[in-house]
Amino acid sequence: MNYSEIKSQLSSKREIVITTHKSPDGDAMGSSLALAQVLKDAGHNVNVMVPDVFPKFLNWMEGCDQVIYFDQQEDECSIGIQKAEMIFSLDYNQLDRVGPMGKIIESAEAIKIMIDHHLFPDKGFDYVISDTSASSCAELVFDFISNLGFESFLKQSTCESLYAGIMTDTGSFRFSSTGAKTHRIAAELIDRGLIPNVVHEKIYDTNSINKLRLTGFALENKLEYFEEKKVAVIGLELSSKNRFGYQKGDTEGLVNYGLTIDGCRMAIFLSEELNCVKFSLRSKGEIDVNLVARKFFNGGGHKNAAGGKLDINLKSALELVKKVIQDEL
Ligand code: 5GP
Ligand code: MN
Repeated sequence: MNYSEIKSQLSSKREIVITTHKSPDGDAMGSSLALAQVLKDAGHNVNVMVPDVFPKFLNWMEGCDQVIYFDQQEDECSIGIQKAEMIFSLDYNQLDRVGPMGKIIESAEAIKIMIDHHLFPDKGFDYVISDTSASSCAELVFDFISNLGFESFLKQSTCESLYAGIMTDTGSFRFSSTGAKTHRIAAELIDRGLIPNVVHEKIYDTNSINKLRLTGFALENKLEYFEEKKVAVIGLELSSKNRFGYQKGDTEGLVNYGLTIDGCRMAIFLSEELNCVKFSLRSKGEIDVNLVARKFFNGGGHKNAAGGKLDINLKSALELVKKVIQDEL
């Protein structure tokens, strides 16, 4: 990565667009909003554009009220992307991860910079910071900010966004992607005034009763455990979600419960939507769920955490999952 080139690009005021993936999660939003804040403080004109809405438990992040949504403000996004001088792609490495916004980014004239930690980055970016060993995109954004010499712009609110990104992508510093560096960055953020339990409470202690009851319902009625293969599966139909007044983000983390079963090697969560099923896959050890998601569920991700989406109903999706478990694991 040639930082002197990026630095010289940023030496005069720029129109900058920061984008992240569909169904933005804590890392996607934390990385995007933190980088936006820093670049704004460095004097640039910055807009964060996301394909669709992010979960409510992230709506405290600094700058989140200025985010532009492609699915609601398509024209504004298109114009913004077309006139941008620099476009950042954060927490994704393939333009199909941003839906129809991807085509507009592809044809934009801006300098394109990807900062990401997923496997198999696409070509088509001018600058690529891709580190699949990084716990989170937020970790890489912290490095990026440091390498540009912009640490002084890391205010407490910016540190909170970065910390939230790292914390959510590492399952609160417990997944195998968590390393000494992850903790070192967390410590640097704390040194700058961040209070860890405050961020933790904002993210994890803001459940609705409905969300908790939906979790209980799913664990009691929908969890299947394939003892022989050590795989846990939860399939949740749309009608059950509706019964509990489902809001985006309400099933976030549900897949992780399966993995807490003693000896469990892999957990799959299937979430039925209007015309499709979304898959969340998690594993421990050597099972590569990125490969499984790519091969069978039209998706991708990381070795131990991946997802996908198929335009089928839940019944067919569960049949497919069981076949994959029987034949492939
Ligand atoms: P989650 O299960 O939390 O939705 O996603 C876990 C991981 O898989 C994330 O790193 C995410 O980027 C990736 N992922 C989720 N859904 C998809 C998808 O439809 N396509 C691809 N390529 N990756 C996905
Ligand atoms: Mn991430």
